[in-house]
Amino acid sequence: MAKILITGAAGFLGSHLTDRMLADGHRVSGVDNFITGDKRNLAHLRNEPRFDLIEHDITTGLDIAGKIDYVMNMASLASPVDYFNHPLETLLAGSAGSHNCLELAKRKRAVYFFASTSEVYGDPNISPQPESYWGNVNPVGVRSCYDESKRYGEALTMAYLRKGLVDTRIVRIFNTFGPRMRVNDGRAVPNFIIQALHGEPLTVYGDGSQTRSFCYVDDLVDGMARLLFSKVTQPVNIGNPDEMTILQMARQIKETLGSKSEIVFRPLPGDDPKQRRPDITLARSLLGFEPKWALADGLAKTIDYFRGAAR
Ligand code: UDP
Repeated sequence: MAKILITGAAGFLGSHLTDRMLADGHRVSGVDNFITGDKRNLAHLRNEPRFDLIEHDITTGLDIAGKIDYVMNMASLASPVDYFNHPLETLLAGSAGSHNCLELAKRKRAVYFFASTSEVYGDPNISPQPESYWGNVNPVGVRSCYDESKRYGEALTMAYLRKGLVDTRIVRIFNTFGPRMRVNDGRAVPNFIIQALHGEPLTVYGDGSQTRSFCYVDDLVDGMARLLFSKVTQPVNIGNPDEMTILQMARQIKETLGSKSEIVFRPLPGDDPKQRRPDITLARSLLGFEPKWALADGLAKTIDYFRGAAR
């Protein structure tokens, strides 16, 4: 049984990861400042003796008493709407926050796990994107607060690794969806589901021809668990390589819900990547990872959740 510290534990991914680690028999301490996380995502763990939750902002330092075997740094504002609204918090979470987590991992002799992103590839001009691709990132654009904080977070992680200070893992997370995304999260899947449930128009940005590859949360968490307990120190993409256009996603959600909502087109936000698809060759070969959830099944689970949450 390992002791795992998870920052951003009250968030969408952090809470699912917490559940998975507890289900596997580990002890988890969660840390969150609730800027986008929500205590309700962890409410079912109220009486779980192997879990505790600490309200704390990792950018202000991080000191936890007792043994820690793994520090998983999941704390970040991950929705474009959130990081457009909170660019400074986003930059500091990836920089000062990552630094504090790495220092804690060093003091505890813990493995450090950094949640990075497909956004390190920016608006990629090759597809699918392998880990060896360096990206096409605008360093001063509206998404730069997120992209550069994660690129810096990766660089910092590699510096600690190369200096022999900490044993590290880096996951590059591609688009993920599932229960516990926020109703007002602003990302495509929750927006389309909530809009369709309310009979409102589905807002497709641009002409909807931009692509994404959507992974159901349980598959993503499985990939992260495999990476954590591996010896792989190079960055690894985790996601589902099934690529689709955003217009296709809007149509699929509308059809799944039997919704009469119309699809309307709205301006495309700045630097919105035109295509995104993970090359998961490394995850397959090094970790034995394979996404198992069909899109329709994942959407059904997510829609069930939002039917309850939207009430
Ligand atoms: N998008 C959209 N309508 C929405 C929200 C998002 O068309 O209501 C588009 C967005 O412009 C992007 C894609 O859907 O091209 C995925 O956006 P999301 O915010 O989910 O995540 P991203 O992949 O951009 O980080």
